[in-house]
Amino acid sequence: MNDAPLASLTLPVYLDYCATTPVDPRVREKMMPYFGTVFGNASSRDHSCGWDAREAVEEARSAVAELIGASAPQIVFTSGATESVNLAIKGMAAAGRKRGNHIITTAVEHHAVLEVCRYLETVGCDVTYLPVDSCGKLDLEVLRQALRPETVLVAVMHANNETGVIFPVGEAASIVREHGALFFTDATQSVGKIPVSFTDTNIGFAALSAHKLYGPKGAGALYIRSESLRKSIVPLIHGGGQETGLRSGTLNVPAIVGFGEACRIAKNELEEDAKRCRVLRDHLEKELHRCFSSLKINGGESLRLPQVCNCSIPGISARDLIRKMGTIAVATASACSGGLSGTSHVLKAMGCDQSVIDGAIRLCAGKYTRREEIDYTIERIRNSV
Ligand SMILES: *Cc1c(COP(=O)(O)O)cnc(C)c1O
Repeated sequence: MNDAPLASLTLPVYLDYCATTPVDPRVREKMMPYFGTVFGNASSRDHSCGWDAREAVEEARSAVAELIGASAPQIVFTSGATESVNLAIKGMAAAGRKRGNHIITTAVEHHAVLEVCRYLETVGCDVTYLPVDSCGKLDLEVLRQALRPETVLVAVMHANNETGVIFPVGEAASIVREHGALFFTDATQSVGKIPVSFTDTNIGFAALSAHKLYGPKGAGALYIRSESLRKSIVPLIHGGGQETGLRSGTLNVPAIVGFGEACRIAKNELEEDAKRCRVLRDHLEKELHRCFSSLKINGGESLRLPQVCNCSIPGISARDLIRKMGTIAVATASACSGGLSGTSHVLKAMGCDQSVIDGAIRLCAGKYTRREEIDYTIERIRNSV
């Protein structure tokens, strides 16, 4: 009986869709010609090889824009969310230098944001790291009070990569803009998982990444609200002037085409996928609760991404549990640290006990996750504990 699901399962069961996703076969198909027949440089203006590549890039730009309620000129292609974060935060810190040197962010951002902020501290910026409560929620009143006359930029992520907790970035952006500062959001986890629209918001910048939404690794984008913001930002990479001078270097046409196709598919299918994932995630949490009454769902009382479950069984070490489970690809909650510190700064900021932090695993479902895989996972966790 226990072996029944095994027969139909491909192992390992992948439940780490927050770390990366496989490329959708339709995306791969769409990319293929751009490694071969359509190999032109999108900046070549003198022949059809260049024009064809350019046309494909612009089609992708429209598809990315459409997924987030933006228009094509608001999208700058980069190598991924990390680069987008660097471009936006360093670029605006440099541009705003005359006005002030104060930046506000949260204690639970991805390392891409936190490390950029730490770097900016070494070159004269003053950074405030806003706390979150025990549910992982951000209090907008705390944000309001942290704003100073010299605040130039506020960076708040849309959805947290460890807990899935969603922040009210639209409201936060309005508070910040009213104050006269700029607002950046790291939307890498939310875009493609839940409907996201930047239409008529006060969000100035947003970072996204193709490989978190079934596109290829090495492509991402920075959304920039207005032409004037675009002009004020200081680029990281100087050179041939691609992407209106904001990001020089020959465009990665195949990856950009794949990113566009992934966004087009997400636009059509994400709501269905999210609904299915929510059912699977809720089933997982309910069953784990039934097995382990002491189970803690970290961020469980907050509005969360429907695909993510971050949970701890107090007294059980996540590392040991994952090793025992073997054939399931899940992450310790601190996996996003890239093996740096080994402890989760997110759960720490939520005031979790050390035993909860050490026991935290993150299970993240995706569009290829099947019910049998979840049942197998529950079984493996039960046996391993
Ligand atoms: C994955 C991730 C990043 C980094 O994205 P890359 O495209 O891999 O550079 C940044 N922020 C969040 C919230 C992420 O989940």
